[in-house]
Amino acid sequence: MVPDSGRQYLAIPGPSALPERVLGAMHRAAPNIYEGDLIEMAAGLVPDLNAVARTRHQVAIYIANGHGTWEAALANVLAPGDKALVLATGRFGKGWGDMAAGLGAEVETIDFGLQSAVDAARVEERLAADAGHQIRAVLAVHVDTGTSIKNDIKTIRAALDATGHPALLMVDCIASLACDAFEMDAWGVDVTLAASQKGLMTPPGLGFVWFGPKAADVRRQMKPVSRYWDWQPRTEPAVFSDLWNGTAPTHHLFGLREALDMIAEEGLEQVWARHGLIARAYWAAFEAWEAGSDGLALNVADRSCRSHAVTAVSCPPPMATKLRDWVFENAGVTLGIGLGMAPMNDPAWHGHFRVGHMGHVNGHMALGVIGAIEAGLRALNIPFAGSGAAAAATVLSGAAS
Ligand SMILES: *Cc1c(COP(=O)(O)O)cnc(C)c1O
Repeated sequence: MVPDSGRQYLAIPGPSALPERVLGAMHRAAPNIYEGDLIEMAAGLVPDLNAVARTRHQVAIYIANGHGTWEAALANVLAPGDKALVLATGRFGKGWGDMAAGLGAEVETIDFGLQSAVDAARVEERLAADAGHQIRAVLAVHVDTGTSIKNDIKTIRAALDATGHPALLMVDCIASLACDAFEMDAWGVDVTLAASQKGLMTPPGLGFVWFGPKAADVRRQMKPVSRYWDWQPRTEPAVFSDLWNGTAPTHHLFGLREALDMIAEEGLEQVWARHGLIARAYWAAFEAWEAGSDGLALNVADRSCRSHAVTAVSCPPPMATKLRDWVFENAGVTLGIGLGMAPMNDPAWHGHFRVGHMGHVNGHMALGVIGAIEAGLRALNIPFAGSGAAAAATVLSGAAS
């Protein structure tokens, strides 16, 4: 048990740190679900959610975590036997594909490994070979939270366009929305997914599926659609409860309302810029330590393919576990476990960890985590070179990028 001697910081890639404002907005008596504040407030969520995803289309809100949105999105556009092409850059692409397989879809996966982004040339080649247009949907993950790889969604759209392929482009933005730049309409994305507990700074429990006109058409042609996941009544509600297929997620909605206000007050592009700056501060720290270390390394070498919301790191096992334990016990910081990099019962599992820097994060939180890691490296006699804390401070000062 760690004594309650100061603020604890959960620096993992979801759930992310909760702003006091969000907690405060949720701290209220059970609201009236027939009339009043809740009903009036809920109507305003849609345009603000659309603004965050940069779309003019529609959004269905579910009482669900990210896995629920995977199923919600698929249930509206893929019938059993339909083919989906999954572009995997880590555990989350594979997981979504597995969800599709569980719903009876025929799933083909192109695996780009754990350290590089989707290669659109390979996608284009595969789509070009699908002359009969058997592939109904391409499933991509914007940021794979296990590997911290960020994929260039525009190049995947370009592969579909170059081949004139009609498949829907479906993108999991659960780890990237309101962290990394994303433009649903400008990038030609048909279906976008997100969940409340990452960049949206709200407790886990709300899932979002945005869909454009092409996906809406596919949904209209589907024969049976799960009543619960059906996005149609949720976006064309006859009564308030249609929005949620039952009772509204009352307190979560007040929390989300506050989080969307915070994003609007800061400005979405400033939110993206802040995540970029904080991410570069973390990279500078790890790159400084990496130089003189014995195998401590960022997972993704190419900066343009790195997430601004999460950073995956590898090191000789069992160093990752020792370091996570040290910073938790001595500095009140919880770092993320490695995910999808090695099996859990394998000693190699102890050679991977992640830092989440999504949502409610600022310079002092990043410097605190970086300083705690540096202290941990020293305490555990792990070799490293220059000061990561100094390198991060230099980035935050604006003197380096
Ligand atoms: C977190 C995450 C998920 C899963 O979300 P849960 O809420 O844990 O079900 C799926 N995809 C990505 C990219 C994620 O980051």
